[in-house]
Amino acid sequence: MNTSIDDELFRYAESLGFGDLHIKFDVATGLQAIVAIHSTKRGPALGGCRFIEYDSVNEAIRDALRLAVGMSYKSAISDLPLGGGKSVLIKPRRPIDREAYFAAFGRFVHELGGRYITAMDSGVEITDMDIISNYTPYVTTISRHNGDPAPFTALGVLRGIEAAVKFKLQRDNLVGVHVAIQGMGHVGYDLAKRLHALGAKLTICDRKPVAVQRYAVELGAEVVEPERIYEVECDVFAPCALGAILNDQTIPLLKTPIIGGSANNQLAEPRHGQLLTDRGILYAPDYVINAGGLIHAHAEYKNSSLVAAEQHIMTIYEVLLTIFERATREQKPTSVIADMIAAERLSL
Ligand code: NAD
Repeated sequence: MNTSIDDELFRYAESLGFGDLHIKFDVATGLQAIVAIHSTKRGPALGGCRFIEYDSVNEAIRDALRLAVGMSYKSAISDLPLGGGKSVLIKPRRPIDREAYFAAFGRFVHELGGRYITAMDSGVEITDMDIISNYTPYVTTISRHNGDPAPFTALGVLRGIEAAVKFKLQRDNLVGVHVAIQGMGHVGYDLAKRLHALGAKLTICDRKPVAVQRYAVELGAEVVEPERIYEVECDVFAPCALGAILNDQTIPLLKTPIIGGSANNQLAEPRHGQLLTDRGILYAPDYVINAGGLIHAHAEYKNSSLVAAEQHIMTIYEVLLTIFERATREQKPTSVIADMIAAERLSL
């Protein structure tokens, strides 16, 4: 692993308007954790912790910075009293004592004194969140909080897809609407079940072939190899795996009028929003459509009503319609319009 940290990263952080960056190494447990706090202007920075492998420390820090900005924007566009932060745990390439590892991370979060509230993200299980909660109160998405945010994220993505289908295809329901889902993990699978229940036709893919075949039988879905998902002729492409998948290589391949999925930071670069507009593809900005988990996590953290949280999530439909209409009126990409609204609220 390349472990050098270069000046470029600090310039990048500055250009994004940070905020602060905290790094913790705990030799005993193998913990290498990065907490990026982009903004606390609207409230404490709530954002998930991601536990995946990285090729370099630079790559991990860059990911944390990028994801933290997304959380500020997501909280602002969802009208939540929260700032934006994110943590990245560099997954060791050797076996670890998971209990000791997440305990060390919990102590690290506690040291930040509530400026950062952690939550579940890719590679992390609810049992890990429960361990963290033994060491800090600045944590949500734990089992006592009704755990997994993914069903709430999936509900929001469903509402977003309904809004996009209404706006682009002038259709009031999803019967027969063909959705191609990239990634059948926590969110993708839940979204697929909801879409199936509403009569949508599904094409699915995942890096885990055994699970995906099982889901295909359950949902009457077609399966494609992960690298073929971009070429599927469909009504909606739903990226629910990893970020940066809308790029120079993939955008020309797309045969969909709509993109709406849960993955964070879907556009490899901001200019890819314009490329999608040029191709006539309606893009539901990621941090707007995938805010359901955050809205739920905030409600759990505050011990407020789940019914109210669900009602808040349902409004993703109206928020997106407003963005789609304004983007059409001002002839700008939907991603730019969402950023403009969020930046105004963050006073950036
Ligand atoms: P997950 O890890 O449970 O699922 C991701 C799935 O994608 C896995 O099954 C994995 O095998 C698959 N995958 C990875 N690379 C792939 C590829 N190239 N092609 C096809 N499949 C691939 O994660 P999740 O919780 O379902 O989240 C999915 C995405 O949504 C992530 O980007 C996450 O940051 C974002 N997100 C999740 C939530 C949430 O509530 N879980 C909230 C907001 C955003």
